[in-house]
Amino acid sequence: MTCSTVLVIEDNELNLKLVRGLLTLDKYGVLEATDAEAGIQLVRAHRPDLILMDIQLPGMDGLTATREIKKDPDLARIPIVALTSYAMQGDEEKALAAGCAGYITKPIDTRQFLEMIAQFLRGNDLAS
Ligand code: MN
Repeated sequence: MTCSTVLVIEDNELNLKLVRGLLTLDKYGVLEATDAEAGIQLVRAHRPDLILMDIQLPGMDGLTATREIKKDPDLARIPIVALTSYAMQGDEEKALAAGCAGYITKPIDTRQFLEMIAQFLRGNDLAS
């Protein structure tokens, strides 16, 4: 049982549905956006406990959005976890360089996902 809120910024509906379903299983509050601009607005308005950030988004990409959030001293402490595609080699390093606490590789391993989320919420910076 937890009261933490996780913001998911992901433009792929199937991934969004999967992540929402898993987070709901562990009673997280879930906020959703399908592009970076809307996601950043939700970060400012709700100050979620954790952000899951897809790297490949329409318009502003997830790395740029991460830098934007990290630039804001009021928001910089919110951990951001990149959602990276297995096929896109090098995204993990770019995500860490942009200020992400770590990354979760897609396709998402549903058996490990919630444990990873719990660890990131505890403040452990680690990659999947
Ligand atoms: Mn995407």
